[in-house]
Amino acid sequence: MIELAKRAKALKPSPTLALAAKAKELAGQGKDVVSLTVGEPDWDTFARVKQAAISAIERGQTKYAPSNGIPELRAELAKQTSSQLGVTYDPTEVVVTAGGKMIVFAVLQVLCDEGDEVIVPAPFWVSYPPMAELAGATPVIVSCGRESRFKMTAEQLEKAITAKTKILILNSPSNPTGEMYSREELTHLAKVLERHPRVMVLSDDIYNRLTLDGSELAPHLLHVAPQLRERVIVVNGASKTYSMTGWRLGWALGDRTVISAMSNYLSQSVSCASPFTQSAMVVALKEGDSDVTQAVTNLRQRSETAYAALRAIEGLDVPKPSGAFYLWPSVEKHLGKKYRGQLIKGSKEFAEQLLNHELVAVVPGVEFGAEGYLRMSFVVSEERWKEAMTRLARFISELTT
Ligand code: PMP
Ligand code: GLU
Repeated sequence: MIELAKRAKALKPSPTLALAAKAKELAGQGKDVVSLTVGEPDWDTFARVKQAAISAIERGQTKYAPSNGIPELRAELAKQTSSQLGVTYDPTEVVVTAGGKMIVFAVLQVLCDEGDEVIVPAPFWVSYPPMAELAGATPVIVSCGRESRFKMTAEQLEKAITAKTKILILNSPSNPTGEMYSREELTHLAKVLERHPRVMVLSDDIYNRLTLDGSELAPHLLHVAPQLRERVIVVNGASKTYSMTGWRLGWALGDRTVISAMSNYLSQSVSCASPFTQSAMVVALKEGDSDVTQAVTNLRQRSETAYAALRAIEGLDVPKPSGAFYLWPSVEKHLGKKYRGQLIKGSKEFAEQLLNHELVAVVPGVEFGAEGYLRMSFVVSEERWKEAMTRLARFISELTT
Protein backbone atom coordinates (compact mmCIF):
# COMPACT_ATOMS: atom_id res chain seq x y z
CA MET A 1 0.00 0.00 0.00
CA ILE A 2 1.23 3.46 -0.83
CA GLU A 3 1.80 5.59 2.23
CA LEU A 4 1.79 9.29 1.45
CA ALA A 5 3.73 11.78 3.50
CA LYS A 6 1.72 13.44 6.28
CA ARG A 7 1.97 16.83 4.58
CA ALA A 8 0.47 15.42 1.39
CA LYS A 9 -2.30 13.60 3.23
CA ALA A 10 -3.40 16.76 4.96
CA LEU A 11 -3.38 18.83 1.79
CA LYS A 12 -6.60 19.79 0.03
CA PRO A 13 -6.74 21.37 -3.43
CA SER A 14 -7.10 25.15 -3.66
CA PRO A 15 -10.88 25.64 -3.30
CA THR A 16 -10.96 28.52 -5.78
CA LEU A 17 -9.27 26.43 -8.45
CA ALA A 18 -11.32 23.34 -7.54
CA LEU A 19 -14.61 25.23 -7.81
CA ALA A 20 -13.55 26.84 -11.08
CA ALA A 21 -12.73 23.37 -12.41
CA LYS A 22 -16.11 22.05 -11.28
CA ALA A 23 -17.91 24.90 -13.04
CA LYS A 24 -15.91 24.20 -16.21
CA GLU A 25 -16.76 20.52 -15.99
CA LEU A 26 -20.48 21.29 -15.73
CA ALA A 27 -20.20 23.69 -18.67
CA GLY A 28 -18.42 20.91 -20.59
CA GLN A 29 -21.50 18.75 -20.01
CA GLY A 30 -23.54 21.38 -21.81
CA LYS A 31 -24.90 23.09 -18.67
CA ASP A 32 -25.36 26.85 -18.77
CA VAL A 33 -23.16 27.65 -15.77
CA VAL A 34 -22.23 31.19 -14.78
CA SER A 35 -18.88 30.89 -13.05
CA LEU A 36 -17.99 33.70 -10.66
CA THR A 37 -15.32 31.59 -9.03
CA VAL A 38 -11.76 32.13 -10.07
CA GLY A 39 -9.87 35.39 -9.66
CA GLU A 40 -8.89 35.84 -13.27
CA PRO A 41 -9.35 38.88 -15.51
CA ASP A 42 -11.54 38.09 -18.52
CA TRP A 43 -9.85 40.52 -20.90
CA ASP A 44 -7.13 39.29 -23.20
CA THR A 45 -3.40 39.56 -22.53
CA PHE A 46 -2.34 42.80 -24.22
CA ALA A 47 -1.48 42.35 -27.92
CA ARG A 48 2.01 43.87 -27.65
CA VAL A 49 2.87 41.40 -24.88
CA LYS A 50 1.70 38.38 -26.86
CA GLN A 51 3.67 39.61 -29.85
CA ALA A 52 6.79 40.07 -27.71
CA ALA A 53 6.57 36.47 -26.51
CA ILE A 54 6.19 35.19 -30.06
CA SER A 55 9.25 37.16 -31.22
CA ALA A 56 11.24 35.94 -28.20
CA ILE A 57 10.45 32.35 -29.12
CA GLU A 58 11.42 33.05 -32.71
CA ARG A 59 14.71 34.56 -31.52
CA GLY A 60 15.40 31.27 -29.72
CA GLN A 61 14.72 32.28 -26.13
CA THR A 62 13.49 28.82 -25.30
CA LYS A 63 16.18 27.46 -22.99
CA TYR A 64 16.85 27.71 -19.25
CA ALA A 65 16.93 31.21 -17.84
CA PRO A 66 18.75 32.30 -14.66
CA SER A 67 16.96 31.00 -11.54
CA ASN A 68 16.37 34.48 -10.20
CA GLY A 69 15.06 35.87 -13.50
CA ILE A 70 16.58 37.50 -16.59
CA PRO A 71 18.62 40.65 -15.81
CA GLU A 72 16.53 43.00 -18.03
CA LEU A 73 13.36 42.02 -16.19
CA ARG A 74 14.90 42.33 -12.74
CA ALA A 75 16.30 45.73 -13.67
CA GLU A 76 12.90 47.00 -14.87
CA LEU A 77 11.09 45.59 -11.84
CA ALA A 78 13.64 47.20 -9.51
CA LYS A 79 13.18 50.54 -11.28
CA GLN A 80 9.38 50.53 -11.37
CA THR A 81 8.82 49.13 -7.89
CA SER A 82 11.31 51.61 -6.41
CA SER A 83 9.41 54.46 -7.99
CA GLN A 84 6.01 53.09 -6.92
CA LEU A 85 6.94 52.37 -3.32
CA GLY A 86 9.38 55.22 -2.71
CA VAL A 87 12.25 53.01 -1.53
CA THR A 88 15.21 51.93 -3.62
CA TYR A 89 15.74 48.39 -4.86
CA ASP A 90 18.73 47.12 -6.74
CA PRO A 91 18.24 44.41 -9.44
CA THR A 92 20.05 41.98 -7.12
CA GLU A 93 17.18 42.47 -4.67
CA VAL A 94 14.62 41.08 -7.11
CA VAL A 95 13.70 37.47 -7.78
CA VAL A 96 11.34 36.28 -10.52
CA THR A 97 9.73 32.87 -10.81
CA ALA A 98 6.78 30.97 -12.23
CA GLY A 99 3.85 32.75 -10.57
CA GLY A 100 3.10 34.86 -7.54
CA LYS A 101 1.86 31.76 -5.78
CA MET A 102 5.30 30.16 -5.94
CA ILE A 103 6.83 33.41 -4.76
CA VAL A 104 4.61 33.45 -1.64
CA PHE A 105 5.45 29.80 -1.09
CA ALA A 106 9.19 30.46 -1.37
CA VAL A 107 9.09 33.44 1.03
CA LEU A 108 7.49 31.22 3.67
CA GLN A 109 9.93 28.39 2.96
CA VAL A 110 13.04 30.50 3.41
CA LEU A 111 11.86 32.43 6.46
CA CYS A 112 9.96 29.94 8.60
CA ASP A 113 11.31 27.28 10.87
CA GLU A 114 9.25 24.59 12.55
CA GLY A 115 7.10 26.17 15.25
CA ASP A 116 7.26 29.73 13.93
CA GLU A 117 3.99 31.61 13.68
CA VAL A 118 2.61 33.38 10.63
CA ILE A 119 -0.09 35.96 11.26
CA VAL A 120 -2.83 35.73 8.66
CA PRO A 121 -5.63 38.30 8.90
CA ALA A 122 -8.98 36.75 7.91
CA PRO A 123 -10.66 36.92 5.45
CA PHE A 124 -7.52 35.65 3.69
CA TRP A 125 -6.52 34.29 0.31
CA VAL A 126 -7.12 30.54 0.45
CA SER A 127 -3.50 29.48 -0.01
CA TYR A 128 -1.82 31.38 2.84
CA PRO A 129 -2.61 28.98 5.71
CA PRO A 130 -1.71 25.75 3.87
CA MET A 131 1.49 27.35 2.56
CA ALA A 132 2.49 28.41 6.09
CA GLU A 133 1.85 24.86 7.25
CA LEU A 134 3.91 23.41 4.41
CA ALA A 135 6.76 25.58 5.68
CA GLY A 136 6.40 23.98 9.13
CA ALA A 137 4.89 27.14 10.62
CA THR A 138 1.62 27.66 12.43
CA PRO A 139 -0.83 30.05 10.79
CA VAL A 140 -2.32 32.36 13.40
CA ILE A 141 -5.66 33.47 12.00
CA VAL A 142 -6.87 36.86 13.17
CA SER A 143 -10.54 37.41 12.36
CA CYS A 144 -11.25 40.89 11.06
CA GLY A 145 -14.92 41.74 10.91
CA ARG A 146 -17.23 44.05 9.07
CA GLU A 147 -16.72 46.78 11.72
CA SER A 148 -13.11 47.28 10.58
CA ARG A 149 -14.01 46.60 6.93
CA PHE A 150 -12.28 43.21 7.27
CA LYS A 151 -8.91 44.82 8.01
CA MET A 152 -6.62 44.09 10.92
CA THR A 153 -6.33 46.83 13.51
CA ALA A 154 -3.13 47.75 15.32
CA GLU A 155 -4.65 46.36 18.55
CA GLN A 156 -5.35 43.02 16.89
CA LEU A 157 -1.82 42.88 15.54
CA GLU A 158 -0.28 43.71 18.90
CA LYS A 159 -2.35 40.99 20.55
CA ALA A 160 -1.48 38.37 17.93
CA ILE A 161 2.30 38.84 18.12
CA THR A 162 4.17 36.38 20.31
CA ALA A 163 7.83 35.45 20.70
CA LYS A 164 7.27 32.91 17.92
CA THR A 165 5.84 35.31 15.34
CA LYS A 166 7.94 35.34 12.19
CA ILE A 167 5.78 36.83 9.47
CA LEU A 168 2.72 39.01 9.09
CA ILE A 169 0.93 38.60 5.76
CA LEU A 170 -0.70 41.74 4.39
CA ASN A 171 -2.75 41.70 1.20
CA SER A 172 -4.15 45.02 0.05
CA PRO A 173 -6.36 45.29 -1.96
CA SER A 174 -7.57 42.07 -0.45
CA ASN A 175 -8.62 38.84 -2.03
CA PRO A 176 -11.48 38.14 -1.17
CA THR A 177 -12.94 41.41 0.19
CA GLY A 178 -11.53 44.03 -2.21
CA GLU A 179 -10.79 46.23 0.80
CA MET A 180 -7.71 48.41 0.87
CA TYR A 181 -5.72 49.58 3.91
CA SER A 182 -5.51 53.37 4.17
CA ARG A 183 -2.24 55.18 4.87
CA GLU A 184 -3.49 55.89 8.34
CA GLU A 185 -4.30 52.24 9.07
CA LEU A 186 -0.90 51.21 7.74
CA THR A 187 0.80 53.82 9.92
CA HIS A 188 -0.83 52.29 13.01
CA LEU A 189 0.27 48.79 11.97
CA ALA A 190 3.79 50.09 11.30
CA LYS A 191 4.03 51.47 14.83
CA VAL A 192 3.29 48.04 16.24
CA LEU A 193 5.82 46.44 13.89
CA GLU A 194 8.48 48.91 15.06
CA ARG A 195 8.11 47.47 18.54
CA HIS A 196 8.66 43.89 17.31
CA PRO A 197 11.86 43.80 15.26
CA ARG A 198 11.78 40.04 14.66
CA VAL A 199 8.54 40.17 12.70
CA MET A 200 8.87 40.22 8.91
CA VAL A 201 6.08 41.30 6.57
CA LEU A 202 4.99 39.57 3.39
CA SER A 203 3.21 42.31 1.47
CA ASP A 204 1.16 40.65 -1.25
CA ASP A 205 0.58 43.54 -3.65
CA ILE A 206 -0.79 41.50 -6.54
CA TYR A 207 -3.90 43.74 -6.89
CA ASN A 208 -2.21 47.05 -6.04
CA ARG A 209 -2.80 48.66 -9.42
CA LEU A 210 -6.36 47.36 -9.73
CA THR A 211 -7.89 50.13 -7.63
CA LEU A 212 -11.55 51.01 -7.90
CA ASP A 213 -11.52 54.21 -5.87
CA GLY A 214 -9.73 56.35 -8.45
CA SER A 215 -6.29 56.13 -6.87
CA GLU A 216 -3.36 55.11 -9.03
CA LEU A 217 -1.84 52.67 -6.58
CA ALA A 218 -2.99 51.14 -3.30
CA PRO A 219 -1.36 52.71 -0.23
CA HIS A 220 1.61 50.65 0.89
CA LEU A 221 3.26 49.95 4.22
CA LEU A 222 6.55 51.21 2.77
CA HIS A 223 4.94 54.52 1.78
CA VAL A 224 4.31 55.27 5.43
CA ALA A 225 7.19 53.35 7.00
CA PRO A 226 10.17 53.19 4.59
CA GLN A 227 12.35 52.39 7.59
CA LEU A 228 10.80 48.90 7.57
CA ARG A 229 12.24 48.16 4.11
CA GLU A 230 14.62 45.49 5.42
CA ARG A 231 11.76 43.56 6.98
CA VAL A 232 9.21 43.79 4.17
CA ILE A 233 9.13 41.35 1.27
CA VAL A 234 7.18 42.89 -1.57
CA VAL A 235 5.31 40.35 -3.70
CA ASN A 236 3.66 41.00 -7.03
CA GLY A 237 3.07 39.36 -10.41
CA ALA A 238 1.82 39.54 -13.95
CA SER A 239 -1.42 37.62 -13.46
CA LYS A 240 -3.90 40.28 -12.44
CA THR A 241 -2.63 43.68 -13.64
CA TYR A 242 -1.59 42.35 -17.04
CA SER A 243 -4.16 39.57 -17.36
CA MET A 244 -1.44 36.94 -17.66
CA THR A 245 -2.64 34.23 -15.26
CA GLY A 246 -1.58 31.39 -17.54
CA TRP A 247 1.88 32.80 -18.19
CA ARG A 248 2.96 32.14 -14.62
CA LEU A 249 5.12 35.08 -13.65
CA GLY A 250 5.60 36.44 -10.16
CA TRP A 251 8.32 38.33 -8.33
CA ALA A 252 9.54 39.50 -4.97
CA LEU A 253 11.70 42.43 -3.90
CA GLY A 254 13.37 42.78 -0.55
CA ASP A 255 16.52 42.54 1.44
CA ARG A 256 19.28 40.67 -0.37
CA THR A 257 19.55 38.01 2.36
CA VAL A 258 15.98 36.87 1.77
CA ILE A 259 16.05 37.30 -2.00
CA SER A 260 19.26 35.26 -2.34
CA ALA A 261 17.82 32.49 -0.18
CA MET A 262 14.72 32.47 -2.36
CA SER A 263 16.85 32.26 -5.51
CA ASN A 264 18.69 29.26 -4.06
CA TYR A 265 15.41 27.65 -3.09
CA LEU A 266 13.96 28.21 -6.56
CA SER A 267 17.09 26.98 -8.29
CA GLN A 268 16.65 23.67 -6.44
CA SER A 269 12.94 23.43 -7.24
CA VAL A 270 11.33 25.43 -10.07
CA SER A 271 14.64 26.20 -11.87
CA CYS A 272 13.29 29.26 -13.65
CA ALA A 273 10.35 31.01 -15.21
CA SER A 274 10.41 30.54 -18.97
CA PRO A 275 12.64 33.07 -20.73
CA PHE A 276 10.20 34.10 -23.45
CA THR A 277 7.49 35.02 -20.92
CA GLN A 278 10.08 37.06 -19.05
CA SER A 279 11.12 38.89 -22.23
CA ALA A 280 7.48 39.65 -22.96
CA MET A 281 7.09 40.92 -19.39
CA VAL A 282 9.84 43.47 -19.99
CA VAL A 283 7.74 44.82 -22.87
CA ALA A 284 4.59 44.78 -20.69
CA LEU A 285 6.38 46.84 -18.04
CA LYS A 286 8.07 49.26 -20.42
CA GLU A 287 5.24 49.80 -22.90
CA GLY A 288 2.07 48.50 -21.27
CA ASP A 289 1.04 51.47 -19.13
CA SER A 290 -1.68 52.69 -21.49
CA ASP A 291 -3.07 49.14 -21.73
CA VAL A 292 -3.20 48.87 -17.93
CA THR A 293 -4.89 52.27 -17.64
CA GLN A 294 -7.52 51.22 -20.15
CA ALA A 295 -8.09 47.89 -18.38
CA VAL A 296 -8.47 49.62 -15.01
CA THR A 297 -10.93 52.15 -16.45
CA ASN A 298 -13.06 49.29 -17.78
CA LEU A 299 -12.75 47.41 -14.51
CA ARG A 300 -14.02 50.42 -12.56
CA GLN A 301 -17.03 50.74 -14.81
CA ARG A 302 -17.84 47.09 -14.45
CA SER A 303 -17.41 47.14 -10.71
CA GLU A 304 -20.03 49.91 -10.47
CA THR A 305 -22.56 48.01 -12.58
CA ALA A 306 -21.88 44.71 -10.84
CA TYR A 307 -22.11 46.27 -7.40
CA ALA A 308 -25.37 48.07 -8.17
CA ALA A 309 -26.98 44.90 -9.52
CA LEU A 310 -25.92 42.80 -6.53
CA ARG A 311 -27.04 45.42 -4.04
CA ALA A 312 -30.44 45.52 -5.65
CA ILE A 313 -31.08 41.95 -4.54
CA GLU A 314 -33.24 41.84 -1.47
CA GLY A 315 -31.66 40.45 1.69
CA LEU A 316 -27.99 40.88 0.83
CA ASP A 317 -25.56 43.17 2.56
CA VAL A 318 -22.82 44.18 0.11
CA PRO A 319 -19.72 46.14 1.13
CA LYS A 320 -18.39 48.30 -1.69
CA PRO A 321 -14.90 47.16 -2.71
CA SER A 322 -12.07 49.61 -3.34
CA GLY A 323 -9.78 47.30 -5.27
CA ALA A 324 -9.36 43.93 -7.05
CA PHE A 325 -12.36 42.34 -8.81
CA TYR A 326 -14.38 40.61 -6.15
CA LEU A 327 -17.66 41.33 -4.41
CA TRP A 328 -18.09 39.96 -0.93
CA PRO A 329 -21.77 39.94 0.00
CA SER A 330 -22.97 38.77 3.38
CA VAL A 331 -25.57 36.00 3.29
CA GLU A 332 -25.60 35.69 7.05
CA LYS A 333 -29.30 36.50 7.21
CA HIS A 334 -30.11 33.42 5.18
CA LEU A 335 -28.09 30.88 7.08
CA GLY A 336 -30.35 28.44 8.91
CA LYS A 337 -33.04 28.74 6.22
CA LYS A 338 -34.01 25.97 3.82
CA TYR A 339 -33.91 25.67 0.06
CA ARG A 340 -36.40 23.08 -1.22
CA GLY A 341 -36.20 21.32 2.12
CA GLN A 342 -32.38 21.36 2.35
CA LEU A 343 -30.84 23.21 5.28
CA ILE A 344 -28.49 26.07 4.37
CA LYS A 345 -26.19 25.68 7.34
CA GLY A 346 -23.35 27.87 6.15
CA SER A 347 -21.84 29.58 3.13
CA LYS A 348 -20.70 26.23 1.79
CA GLU A 349 -24.23 24.83 1.62
CA PHE A 350 -25.45 28.13 0.18
CA ALA A 351 -22.88 27.94 -2.62
CA GLU A 352 -23.54 24.24 -3.21
CA GLN A 353 -27.30 24.64 -3.56
CA LEU A 354 -26.88 27.74 -5.71
CA LEU A 355 -24.65 25.80 -8.07
CA ASN A 356 -26.77 22.67 -8.10
CA HIS A 357 -30.10 24.39 -8.69
CA GLU A 358 -29.31 27.67 -10.40
CA LEU A 359 -25.95 26.88 -12.00
CA VAL A 360 -24.22 29.90 -10.49
CA ALA A 361 -20.77 29.09 -9.12
CA VAL A 362 -19.39 31.25 -6.29
CA VAL A 363 -16.79 30.60 -3.59
CA PRO A 364 -18.10 30.22 -0.02
CA GLY A 365 -16.66 32.69 2.49
CA VAL A 366 -15.70 29.90 4.86
CA GLU A 367 -12.87 28.97 2.47
CA PHE A 368 -11.38 32.41 3.17
CA GLY A 369 -11.74 32.01 6.91
CA ALA A 370 -14.96 34.03 7.23
CA GLU A 371 -18.35 32.34 7.53
CA GLY A 372 -21.48 34.10 6.30
CA TYR A 373 -20.10 35.54 3.04
CA LEU A 374 -19.69 34.62 -0.61
CA ARG A 375 -16.90 35.67 -2.93
CA MET A 376 -18.06 36.59 -6.39
CA SER A 377 -15.56 37.47 -9.07
CA PHE A 378 -17.21 40.11 -11.25
CA VAL A 379 -14.86 39.91 -14.23
CA VAL A 380 -17.46 38.36 -16.51
CA SER A 381 -19.51 40.05 -19.23
CA GLU A 382 -22.29 42.38 -18.13
CA GLU A 383 -24.80 40.03 -19.65
CA ARG A 384 -23.54 37.00 -17.69
CA TRP A 385 -23.42 39.03 -14.49
CA LYS A 386 -27.06 40.07 -15.04
CA GLU A 387 -28.02 36.46 -15.63
CA ALA A 388 -26.24 35.42 -12.42
CA MET A 389 -28.08 38.14 -10.49
CA THR A 390 -31.46 36.99 -11.81
CA ARG A 391 -30.71 33.44 -10.73
CA LEU A 392 -29.34 34.47 -7.34
CA ALA A 393 -32.41 36.64 -6.65
CA ARG A 394 -34.67 33.73 -7.56
CA PHE A 395 -32.69 31.39 -5.32
CA ILE A 396 -32.94 33.77 -2.37
CA SER A 397 -36.67 34.33 -2.94
CA GLU A 398 -37.22 30.59 -2.61
CA LEU A 399 -35.50 30.29 0.79
CA THR A 400 -37.85 29.42 3.60
CA THR A 401 -37.53 29.62 7.36
N1 PMP B 1 -1.92 36.43 -4.06
C1 PMP B 1 -3.25 36.62 -4.15
C2 PMP B 1 -3.93 37.40 -3.09
C3 PMP B 1 -3.98 36.09 -5.20
O1 PMP B 1 -5.29 36.28 -5.29
C4 PMP B 1 -3.31 35.34 -6.18
C5 PMP B 1 -4.14 34.77 -7.29
N2 PMP B 1 -3.92 33.52 -7.63
C6 PMP B 1 -1.92 35.17 -6.05
C7 PMP B 1 -1.26 35.73 -4.97
C8 PMP B 1 -1.06 34.41 -7.00
O2 PMP B 1 -1.30 34.61 -8.32
P1 PMP B 1 -0.36 34.00 -9.45
O3 PMP B 1 0.22 32.74 -8.91
O4 PMP B 1 -1.26 33.75 -10.59
O5 PMP B 1 0.69 35.02 -9.72
N1 GLU C 1 -5.98 33.74 -6.68
C1 GLU C 1 -7.04 33.40 -7.59
C2 GLU C 1 -8.31 33.20 -6.80
O1 GLU C 1 -8.34 33.41 -5.64
C3 GLU C 1 -6.66 32.23 -8.44
C4 GLU C 1 -6.90 30.86 -7.88
C5 GLU C 1 -5.82 30.41 -6.93
O2 GLU C 1 -4.65 30.60 -7.25
O3 GLU C 1 -6.20 29.85 -5.91
O4 GLU C 1 -9.31 32.85 -7.36
